[in-house]
Amino acid sequence: MEDPMDGQTAFRSTTRHMLKESKTYASQTLMGGLSGFESPIGLDRRDRIRALRTGDIGFVHSWDINTSVDGPGTRMTVFMSGCPLRCQYCQNPDTWKMRDGKPVYLEAMVRKVERYADLFKATGGGITFSGGESMMQPAFVSRVFHEAKAMGVHTCLDTSGFLNRNYTDAMIDDIDLCLLDVKSGDPDTYERVTGGILQPTIDFGRRLAKRGKKIWVRFVLVPGLTDDEENVDKVARICRSFGDAVEHIDVLPFHQLGRPKWHELRIPYPLEDQKGPSKACKDRVREQFESYGFRVY
Ligand code: SF4
Repeated sequence: MEDPMDGQTAFRSTTRHMLKESKTYASQTLMGGLSGFESPIGLDRRDRIRALRTGDIGFVHSWDINTSVDGPGTRMTVFMSGCPLRCQYCQNPDTWKMRDGKPVYLEAMVRKVERYADLFKATGGGITFSGGESMMQPAFVSRVFHEAKAMGVHTCLDTSGFLNRNYTDAMIDDIDLCLLDVKSGDPDTYERVTGGILQPTIDFGRRLAKRGKKIWVRFVLVPGLTDDEENVDKVARICRSFGDAVEHIDVLPFHQLGRPKWHELRIPYPLEDQKGPSKACKDRVREQFESYGFRVY
């Protein structure tokens, strides 16, 4: 039976950030084999849509165990497939289509969280849903989070917030931390960068704040695209509207590590010759955010 989380193709390791323990742990996980992730077979299209709606199954691109990348401590990060945005700087265009992911049973995912629960608690880690866009499969993600919270496991949602309306307040209550991508502060720039609209991100951030959740903001700095001083100021003002919820802002300098995937998928890559930001540009943006009182990484 096909197991989407069994084997190297489904296993991604963020080695450049990993500490030794988690690297060892990751390799143990690989070598130990992974049981309980049978893909549902024999489901017709209607069954799948129903199971997706209820959260009985989720479409998963891949997963990994990492440390200090997608939230605090050692984490299991699950990359859900499907994304409604088309960011020019996307590093994972292979996650865009939900149908390219593999279906995983809710119970199997919950059992996996349970198996690692002690490790998560010992390291202050937990489970992170990322993507693609994690909010595209709200029932599956929120049900796993609900079970994780019942086990005392920390939960983190990595999202653009673009699908704000997919998430109910009750679902938000099971999120401990949100890694919120504020991709631009200026609505026109946001649309140019992502193909989507900015307002849902703002709305989602405010809902998180209102319900006492913590936010780590992520902002990708691309020279000539997102680095405009006024745009950065607008991002800072949006973050300020989230109040004390924002613990810090990650300024992520653009790089070209995602380019090969665009080529492999034969998708025209808009940033083919784009350079990363200079030190002066990074310093200026950092100072801008700091001038609003934010801690910046
Ligand atoms: S939201 Fe993330 S996955 Fe979706 S296109 Fe943008 S960078 Fe890529």
